[in-house]
Amino acid sequence: GQCKACVDGGGFFDPCPALDAVVSSTRVECPNAGCPRYVTYHEVAEHQTTCPHAPCRCTEPGCGYVGAPQALAGHLHTVHSVPVRAVQYGKASQLRLPVSAPRLVLLGDDDNRVFLLSVGALGAGVTAVSVVCARASAATRPRFACKLWVNLEAANCGKEDMVLVDMHMRSSSSPGAVVAAGEPTFLTVPPMYLVPAAAASGDGAASMEVPLHIRIDKLSPWSDALV
Ligand SMILES: [Zn+2]
Ligand SMILES: [Zn+2]
Ligand SMILES: [Zn+2]
Repeated sequence: GQCKACVDGGGFFDPCPALDAVVSSTRVECPNAGCPRYVTYHEVAEHQTTCPHAPCRCTEPGCGYVGAPQALAGHLHTVHSVPVRAVQYGKASQLRLPVSAPRLVLLGDDDNRVFLLSVGALGAGVTAVSVVCARASAATRPRFACKLWVNLEAANCGKEDMVLVDMHMRSSSSPGAVVAAGEPTFLTVPPMYLVPAAAASGDGAASMEVPLHIRIDKLSPWSDALV
């Protein structure tokens, strides 16, 4: 085009409505592998923070792997021996989490959504359990809600104690770097709630497990009005 400001050579720092209009209407393919979206130049940065195909980072020491969430799940499993479990949305699952194995990958059964569950020591025998969705950190759709709870198995007074959290699932593109104590919500498990591992190898605290219940709910778009 014959943009007057450009032709005159003085328009470099001036707003250029003609060029802006061209840029605004030009759509580019999202650079993330597997993403079918075309967005305008102006929307690229914003889309990158929410793109469901945005790469996630492995934060194991010395590992620089970057890949889509499902690829990261496979990487964590094959390279770092992180166990993987499928979870059904809307149903409680029971997991036995060894306090000595700090990570577990959860895969949503109908969409292969990747969640990373972390187990950490808070000191004084207290264990923290947190869970985060592996995806672009600003991604909000679909929304997930998560309940984590543990029952006190030794109770014999008729009323069973339990610890429970009910939270919105946060998202992180570096899910392995998420530390429970830095999250708004996480489950605090007192030492009395831990149980000996089924195949106890007799090495003290390292053979204890968290008998965790987890329920992840995928919230329907129309339920957003309620939350
Ligand atoms: Zn121009
Ligand atoms: Zn995208
Ligand atoms: Zn890695």
